Amino acid sequence: MNLIFLGPPGAGKGTQAKRLQDRFGIVQISTGDMLRAEVTAGSKVGLQAKAVMEAGQLVSDEILIRMLGNRIERSDCLTGFILDGFPRTEPQAEALDALLAGRGLKLDAVIELKVDAPALVERIAGRFTCAKCGAGYHDSFNQPKVADTCDVCGGHAFIRRADDKRETVAARLAAYERQTAPILPHYAAAGLLHSVDGMAGMDEVTAEIMAVLDNVPVGVEA
Ligand code: ADP
Ligand code: ADP
Ligand code: ZN
Repeated sequence: MNLIFLGPPGAGKGTQAKRLQDRFGIVQISTGDMLRAEVTAGSKVGLQAKAVMEAGQLVSDEILIRMLGNRIERSDCLTGFILDGFPRTEPQAEALDALLAGRGLKLDAVIELKVDAPALVERIAGRFTCAKCGAGYHDSFNQPKVADTCDVCGGHAFIRRADDKRETVAARLAAYERQTAPILPHYAAAGLLHSVDGMAGMDEVTAEIMAVLDNVPVGVEA
């Protein structure tokens, strides 16, 4: 099963993608995580991307398309993937179509998570993750069961993203509206777009996504 999760920053894409990854054994591909790994490694791409990300803007299509192209060639993608954070622009959506066609792969569904702006600001401002395993948490909505201890790996170190500041959120939401929302009609026209109410609690959102996927014809490769 090959899926795209679309939605503004903080909508819950990563949270839900991780749940589906575990449930279906398909790999989550987060371009944000890949870029942050490049920044941490101090690579050439990381150096180019760092300031752009911290300003809440989008990194160039050229970098992203190359990065995703390399990632999708890895063998773990053959059993299915969830794209979390890609495509984010019209050129990226077109490049993805070509990449998939070239590999004989097709998309099964595009899930749009809809969340209003005030809720996004709250979700982003309270977000933190486990430094060791990447599990996601929230100050108000999703705290670790035992204080300062990761539910998944037992780790005690947590990180907050440099761009998860109230000051940067407006720029990120604007980038979504201006550059990413325009690709939704592309997938609607292909009959692939399913919109889900992302304002609900995490378990409800998962159930809604599962209900959508139950009705999607899967496994017929192009
Ligand atoms: P969010 O949790 O806000 O949806 P991500 O972790 O997906 O954020 O991305 C963080 C940042 O990385 C983005 O604000 C952007 O600067 C950069 N980025 C990630 N994916 C892309 C992409 N497909 N195109 C351009 N920039 C990207
Ligand atoms: P995205 O990947 O779309 O940027 P995340 O999955 O990282 O979003 O979620 C953003 C923050 O909101 C995280 O701290 C997460 O724990 C929290 N969160 C995710 N889904 C929900 C939800 N349905 N209700 C409340 N908080 C949520
Ligand atoms: Zn952990």
